[in-house]
Amino acid sequence: MIKGTKLYSILGNKCPRCHEGDFFITKNPYNLKKFDKMYERCTVCNEKFDKEPGFFYGAMYVNYALTVALGVGWFILIYLMYGFDPMIYVVSFSIVLLITIPWMFRTGRLVWINFFVKYKKDFVK
Ligand SMILES: [Zn+2]
Repeated sequence: MIKGTKLYSILGNKCPRCHEGDFFITKNPYNLKKFDKMYERCTVCNEKFDKEPGFFYGAMYVNYALTVALGVGWFILIYLMYGFDPMIYVVSFSIVLLITIPWMFRTGRLVWINFFVKYKKDFVK
């Protein structure tokens, strides 16, 4: 992945400003005890992650959009495999949602903060 792109920060769990420091404490979204723990500030460039109280409420909208996109994609996949069967869709999508919760949570926050913070190659500490 190319450093300097938003995708690098979002998929690589990197600070949106310097793309060097980590955003979440653990790299593994399935470490269920720590998957939601973020650094308060970037360990490399000192960028503050939680901009203001409630800043990450907006990440819920991103999460919603990601969930809808996943739901539509999953529906198409199930439709192509089994035809129109709502029961298979509901049960299998519930399982997919449960499995992707930690990843969705983290991706929602990373996308949200990347809306507001621009990458700076030469950051001042
Ligand atoms: Zn940084």
